[in-house]
Amino acid sequence: MRIIRVRHRGQAFYAAITSPESVRPLNREPGMPEEIALAELELLPLVRPSKIVCVGLNYHDHARELGLSAPPEPILFLKPPSSVIGAGDAIVLPAASERVDYEAELAMVIGRAAHFVAEADAGRHVFGYTCANDVTARDLQQKDGQWTRAKGFDTFCPVGPWIETDPGDVHDLGLRAVVNGTVRQEGSTAEMIFPPHLLVSFISRIMTLYPGDVILTGTPAGIGPLLPGDEVSIEIDRVGFLLNPVASEGPVDPSAMQ
Ligand code: MG
Repeated sequence: MRIIRVRHRGQAFYAAITSPESVRPLNREPGMPEEIALAELELLPLVRPSKIVCVGLNYHDHARELGLSAPPEPILFLKPPSSVIGAGDAIVLPAASERVDYEAELAMVIGRAAHFVAEADAGRHVFGYTCANDVTARDLQQKDGQWTRAKGFDTFCPVGPWIETDPGDVHDLGLRAVVNGTVRQEGSTAEMIFPPHLLVSFISRIMTLYPGDVILTGTPAGIGPLLPGDEVSIEIDRVGFLLNPVASEGPVDPSAMQ
């Protein structure tokens, strides 16, 4: 199933896409129609996470590209919930950075709270999978020595366009970043150092994962820069296709500073 989050007559809910024109609400309230036309709905951001947990250096080919060896344990960092945007929303390049990169990543959306979960049970806590772009201000990442600013700007976490609840085996999915129609990054989740369910288990022993939380599983080789006017898409086999335009930060409005 492909799941989106929508609003209809003031009510926000998740719904399954049943055709190019209609959806079926999940957990239908009394009086709610069984099928609703997409045209009658307002699309909402796919997730409202309490946190976005990201994994750095989780692909063998990306580690090789950087001249680094595979880490012995997952390297974690966080992106703030305020960085999330949906399909079609603009990635805004901040004036504070001269180099902002795309990073194609498979994302997991948690469906059931996870606290000290075994790897073998982790699948029951994952609601589904989606595409994500771990947008990164590369120059600030190097300058700051830690990653909060580089990874945390508003619009730096495009996620979508839907949650795929059954993509099949996620251990050999092709994933790509395509900029203006040209493939710039191409890899396979088979290159992952720590596979998805191991990550859920590992993270759940540090912080409780709540429904709606998102895990970004790392990026393969081939990262590169974005420029204003670009269109970047993250494409993952059997999961989806997430397209976002790229804009530059507008001039600061002095009246907004008062
Ligand atoms: Mg990343």
